[in-house]
Amino acid sequence: PEPEPGTARVPELGAAGPEGRAARTALALREAASAEAWTLLDHPLLALDVAGSPAFLEPDAVVVHPDGRWTVVEIKSFPMVDGSADAAKVGAAARQSAVYVLALEEVARRLDPAPEVRHEVLLVCPRDFSNLPAASAVDTRKQIAVTRRQLARLTRIEEIAEALPPGVTFDTEQDAAEIEEAVAAVPATYAPQCLSSCELAFHCRDRARASGSVTALGRSLRGELGGLSEVRQVLAAARGSQGDPDDPAVAALRRAAALRAEALGGVPC
Ligand code: SF4
Repeated sequence: PEPEPGTARVPELGAAGPEGRAARTALALREAASAEAWTLLDHPLLALDVAGSPAFLEPDAVVVHPDGRWTVVEIKSFPMVDGSADAAKVGAAARQSAVYVLALEEVARRLDPAPEVRHEVLLVCPRDFSNLPAASAVDTRKQIAVTRRQLARLTRIEEIAEALPPGVTFDTEQDAAEIEEAVAAVPATYAPQCLSSCELAFHCRDRARASGSVTALGRSLRGELGGLSEVRQVLAAARGSQGDPDDPAVAALRRAAALRAEALGGVPC
């Protein structure tokens, strides 16, 4: 049945701390599953196991249908014009919602009988640049399968922690020198793409430059240079003082160095 305006249950989800909020959400979902009524969970908090640690996620809303099924609702600010929206933005919203669906499935698995979590999510956007909402069902089956595979492949946090030198901690209460020492103890493979996605990018870039690593020049170049991992080795290969001439990367570097010298009137690289 269609929900009558004002009749849906909207449980209170407030609690202390993320664990408390996630437990309150799980309880509200359990109650809603057997309520045989429309229930709207406004900004519930879900926990998802990521590499052995809980990650807390907050969907915009979750709707519980009278038949007990659960649907994720994602509200976005990009417009839906004539019933369709920017495909890239819808794709990003689908990937985000897929993570919520997986987190909801973790909650559902703990119930008996386990409610169905719908793989079709409800995307809500402004209609034609107005302030009226427009909703569209988005199939997230593909995104769910991809995210599930990625989560299964993640190295577990315990394994990463075991690889760290004994005593290393990233506790932010330490002084700056200790934190710097701890960060320096972890190997990193910097690439220019890190600048747009990681807060440690400047630190890793300085380290990569100081060590003369070719990764600082970009992933594609690193791939093309094969076994030459340092700028010093690349220059030596180009000058002909190092490297196997049968190596395609070394041969290409020597060819490029010869062309450069010819163009610059014999100036070596
Ligand atoms: S900048 Fe971030 S992502 Fe890039 S290597 Fe450093 S820690 Fe890793």
